[in-house]
Amino acid sequence: ATVIAIETSCDETAAAVVKKRHILSSVVSSQIAAHQAYGGVVPEVASRLHVEMINAVVAEAIAQSGLGWDQIDGIGVTAAPGLVGALLVGLSAAKTLAMLQRKPLIGIHHLEGHIYASYLVDRQLRPPFLCLLVSGGHTSLIRVENCGQYLTLGQTRDDAVGEAFDKVARLLGLGYPGGPAIDRAARAGDPGAFDFPEGNISLPAGGFHPYDSSFSGLKTAALRLVERLRAQEGDLPVADLAASFQASVARSLTKRALRCAQDHQLSTLVVGGGVAANSALRSHLTAAAQAQGVTVIFPPLSLCTDNAAMIACAAAEHLERGHQSSLSLGAQSRFGLEQVMALYDSSTF
Ligand code: ATP
Ligand code: MG
Ligand code: FE
Repeated sequence: ATVIAIETSCDETAAAVVKKRHILSSVVSSQIAAHQAYGGVVPEVASRLHVEMINAVVAEAIAQSGLGWDQIDGIGVTAAPGLVGALLVGLSAAKTLAMLQRKPLIGIHHLEGHIYASYLVDRQLRPPFLCLLVSGGHTSLIRVENCGQYLTLGQTRDDAVGEAFDKVARLLGLGYPGGPAIDRAARAGDPGAFDFPEGNISLPAGGFHPYDSSFSGLKTAALRLVERLRAQEGDLPVADLAASFQASVARSLTKRALRCAQDHQLSTLVVGGGVAANSALRSHLTAAAQAQGVTVIFPPLSLCTDNAAMIACAAAEHLERGHQSSLSLGAQSRFGLEQVMALYDSSTF
């Protein structure tokens, strides 16, 4: 199926046209500059900017695809999870298009979208496989059974890994968004300069939980270390700190993901979400997976961070399976990946 999809769950206004696993157009209008002054995403500002941009972004996606509306089979849209005010802008636009153009509406779970980014990269990819989803709001290990069927095997108990990147970057004076800033600063640093904890969740019987993680301790450890270094030497070794921090995150995520793949006898690991753009994670995980005989798929950077192509790819498959949403579909700020199929059941959604 050929689908146009809209994504407005956070601070990117995006629209894309995808034919099965082929991107015909993908437009992303980032609001980063507007939120930078506040050091993070301001929900009200995000909603307002989505309203301002959405029509132009959709028109551009259609124009770049070279297709007419008669060649489009459905309208996909991110319905959950995310900022409700931001999601509602995309939903209203998608419903309007669905009514005007008389096309089915396909609501998509944002995290299912992040998983589908890898289907655009490897067109032979088939479930079951494991997904390491690392983003601004999530740090999850997901067993992908089928389209719409997911099992969360591990998650963070507190902060998401992207959040930890953003907070540590602020601590180091690197600005917002923190992930790319830390990645850049780390290039000139020594990853072995400092020791950071790996965010293990201890078990009462000893040892630690194999798949769950905690990143709030890592953030506190960074704070203590920075305070101590400031008191000692004044000037902060920012590059060494950034390199050591992201190396410990890469080690911790790699260990959990590969252990999980082994335990569940899954030989393919796909990585998704904004933190999948991190260079230390990409190189560390790729090398370790190769040693274990696991195939890893990292989408290109433009498909790691929020975009509508991944949403359209998920919507195209749902549409082919006959899954459609009601025009009364609502937005949800929190919504489990296990409940994806409720998006196609008008009695519950
Ligand atoms: P979610 O997908 O969980 O709803 P989100 O959509 O806000 O959250 P994404 O857009 O997928 O999150 O990812 C954004 C996060 O990725 C931010 O925390 C950002 O700092 C992080 N990030 C982006 N690039 C990099 C990088 N090169 N290294 C580390 N982190 C990065
Ligand atoms: Mg974003
Ligand atoms: Fe995201």
